[in-house]
Order: sequence, then structure tokens, then C-alpha cells
Amino acid sequence: MVIVMQPGAPKADIDAVIAKVEELGFTPHPIFGVEKTVVAVIGEGAYDAADMFESLPSVDRAVPIGQPYKLAGSDVKPEKTVVTVGDVPIGGERLAVIAGPCAIESREQFLETAKLVKSHGVRIVRGSAFKPRTSPHDFQGLGLKGLELLKEVKEELGLYLVNEIMEPGQLDAMVGVVDMLQIGARNMQNFALLSAVGKSGLPVLLKRGIASTIDDFLKAAEYIMVTGNHNVVLCERGIRTFETATRFTLDLSMVPVVRRLSHLPILVDPSHAAGQHDYVPPLAKAAVAVGADGLFVETHFRPDQALCDGPQALSPTEFAELMEALPAFAEAAGRTI
Ligand code: PEP
Ligand code: MN
Repeated sequence: MVIVMQPGAPKADIDAVIAKVEELGFTPHPIFGVEKTVVAVIGEGAYDAADMFESLPSVDRAVPIGQPYKLAGSDVKPEKTVVTVGDVPIGGERLAVIAGPCAIESREQFLETAKLVKSHGVRIVRGSAFKPRTSPHDFQGLGLKGLELLKEVKEELGLYLVNEIMEPGQLDAMVGVVDMLQIGARNMQNFALLSAVGKSGLPVLLKRGIASTIDDFLKAAEYIMVTGNHNVVLCERGIRTFETATRFTLDLSMVPVVRRLSHLPILVDPSHAAGQHDYVPPLAKAAVAVGADGLFVETHFRPDQALCDGPQALSPTEFAELMEALPAFAEAAGRTI
């Protein structure tokens, strides 16, 4: 159920609604919009309790929602959410670019690549310490040592950091180092992990599972949001189809669909979708044109030496060319960068 308050409802009336929701044994999730406040109500039986709220002061209406996206849905919050990482907004008029290597491999590699992305105006850098690899024989990341190096470099350069978390036990080591937690495609439906990252309170970058529908994806976002943490950024990264010419198939049609269904920001990762560096710039431009709120791109100061995802990493020159080309696409899409 969703309780829509009248515009300008006094705080006391909102508090009274929240208190009643709790009294009935449900969980309230107030969403403070620009014009009005909406209280999403979660709990078994909430669907049938709408009548009990309509007569309360300042309640405009109480709507039983059969729709599954009680927190992420655009019906509960028509205006778009802006998630802030450090002081960088994701989801506003300005496109966000997150870039960096797939993994941190050494201090020098991360420092040089982070300097490169910073020199093009990027403020949030990626480069994971823990790597979920398809094969156990491949480089698994530097782990805790990687986190130490990441902390040093991010402080030296004044950047914000997004990093993948693979299990709840890694959380303590990551809090205080990373500014945003990444849930990788392979863990999109790891519900215990979604709940743990939600409870951390940190912003979360949620990547779409390789065989997940948009419906699965938004329900995974609900798992994070139900903990009270609404700082969720969605990321399309390609899905598995019969096509083998690219590593995955970038589902750009999901961008307008998600923008209709949800208020959450949506980034596009053309790197993992393409799997090959020369396809990344055209897909990145298309993502901006189709309405994405930003990009998530892999780059490496020496792609030929990368220990992970080298073939899809943009070289310094390619990255520079992409960053120079993007403003025109952003402008055409009514955005800035
Ligand atoms: C990554 O971002 O490096 C990554 C592993 O992505 P995905 O989970 O989308 O495969
Ligand atoms: Mn990668």
C-alpha cells in the first residue's frame, strides 16, 4: 500500500500516519518528494489496510498496490531519485561517469589509471579488490591488500571509490574505504548480500544479472531498499543472448523501460557488454542518447598488461577520445556532462 499525503502536509500528520502504520505491525518507508510525501507500507496484509488511513488528517489517498515495486516504482515517487556519492550526484541533469580498471592490480597500475580518469573530470573511480571470476584459476583480485592500496590512492587523488562486494563478511573491511558498494551481475539475486549492503547505509551500484529480466532486476533493488537504504543506482551491463559476436548483448531498450517503471538512476556499462574495447565508445554514446543517467566504463593505463578484462579496457587515448565526444551526445539528449 502507498499512502499519499496532501501537498504541504504538516510533519505531525506525517508522523501520525507513520505511527499508525507501525501500530498495525507494518513497516513504513516515507519518501519525501519535492511536492508531497508518500509513505510506502510494507508488510503482509498491508494491501487490505488502505481504508484505515484515508480518514487521517492530511492523507490524500491510500492506494493498495498490486504492483511489485513498492519502493523503486515510479508510481510511489514520480520524480527521479538522485543518489549522491561523496558530493557527486548520480541521476540529475548532469551525466555521471564512473571509470577505472576492472581490478586493482598494483599501486602503480591503479594510481596511473586513476590519474588518467581524473584528468578527464571523472570523480568516482572503480577498480575492484575482490573479483568474481568465471574460472577459479584466474586472478581473483588483491583482496584486503588491494583495499589498503585503494584507500591510499583515493586519498592521494581526492577521488571517490566504488568497489564490488562478494559476501557480507567483506563489509567491515570495505566500510571506511569505499564510497559506494557494487553488487556484481553474478550476485544480483544474492538476497543475503543485498540485505547486508542495504543495512550498511552506503550507496549501492546494482548490476543487472546476466540472465535477469527487468522485473527480476527491480525486485533485487527492492531487497536493498526494504532495509531503509534508498541510495540504489541500477546498472545495465549486457545480458546473455544467442549472439556470440559480443561478450553479452547490451540491452539498451531496458533504459526507457526502467525510466518508466522506476525513479532510480540507471547507468550503462558498455565495457562488460561488448567485451571488446572498440565497441565500447559507440555503445557508450548510444546509452547517453537513449536516456541513461551515466556510464560505467573500464579503462587501463596499459590494457595489454591487464590481469582482468584487458580486451575491453579503453586505452588512455581511446578514453580521452570518448570523453571528448560525449558532451555533444549529452547535449542532444538534453543533459550535461
Ligand atoms: C565488473 O564491474 O568488473 C564486473 C565484474 O561486472 P559484472 O558483475 O557486470 O560482470
Ligand atoms: Mn571487469
